[in-house]
Amino acid sequence: MDIPAPTIVRDYNSHMGGVDKSDMLKSLYDRDRKAEKWWHRLFFGIIEIAMVNSYICYSDIQDKIPLLEYKRRVTQGLITMSKVSSKKRGRPRSDAGEISELPPPKKRKTANFSVSDDIRQQNKGAHWPVFVKNRGRCEFCASKKIESRPHSQCTLCKVFLCVNEKKNCFYQYHN
Ligand SMILES: [Zn+2]
Ligand SMILES: [Zn+2]
Repeated sequence: MDIPAPTIVRDYNSHMGGVDKSDMLKSLYDRDRKAEKWWHRLFFGIIEIAMVNSYICYSDIQDKIPLLEYKRRVTQGLITMSKVSSKKRGRPRSDAGEISELPPPKKRKTANFSVSDDIRQQNKGAHWPVFVKNRGRCEFCASKKIESRPHSQCTLCKVFLCVNEKKNCFYQYHN
């Protein structure tokens, strides 16, 4: 006897490769933990799916990076954005004015820095200079083909940057 397959079954059978791939990516670094309330698992599961879907879009547009690195960037961006958003809140404006105040969209690749723009420039208040024993190549100087090996490093970006009476690559790198 022929029985018509429900659409959902047909869809699954023809696209299950994608579903499996999504499940695989989702489970890779999933912090799936036991929850007291059943809907907590559902809620965090949806967030994990959103993370995987945005990662796939990101990989299409930008250079492919490991999923773990992508999650690290998203997390770091979210937890250190407080200063930027409180600044916006401080200035009351009409909705239309707010939109025109938004910064112009960033170019895909401004400079060949190892740290992405969203971490390097947008997490004000989370970058601090430290002085370490060993020296390292200043990434900002290197981008201008200047050789400089300072002791100073950014705590967040983990790159060496000059901070002295002659030059402040630390400031320029982050702005
Ligand atoms: Zn930094
Ligand atoms: Zn420098």
